[in-house]
Amino acid sequence: MPLRLEVKDLTWWIDHLEANGADASQLREILEESQSPHDPHQEDVEDYIARKLRESTVENGVDLVCPICTNEYPQLVAGVCYNCFRGWSLAARRR
Ligand SMILES: [Zn+2]
Repeated sequence: MPLRLEVKDLTWWIDHLEANGADASQLREILEESQSPHDPHQEDVEDYIARKLRESTVENGVDLVCPICTNEYPQLVAGVCYNCFRGWSLAARRR
């Protein structure tokens, strides 16, 4: 189930993931990009998510655990599952 994330949650998650030894640098980039004057909001939201997907590291494996929703997936994007990645991108984009 996709999480409903707010921008304030994103900062909390970055700190939380890094405190637990995870690499949250790509998630941080998404958040920082969304706060920059380079306005990604002119882009259609689906185009934006597709672009972020292309730019992010995809990890394939068996029983990879998403650190945000703690479910197991065969694939992680930027260190989290697709659902959380999508929720993250949407939340970062929202103002
Ligand atoms: Zn997840």
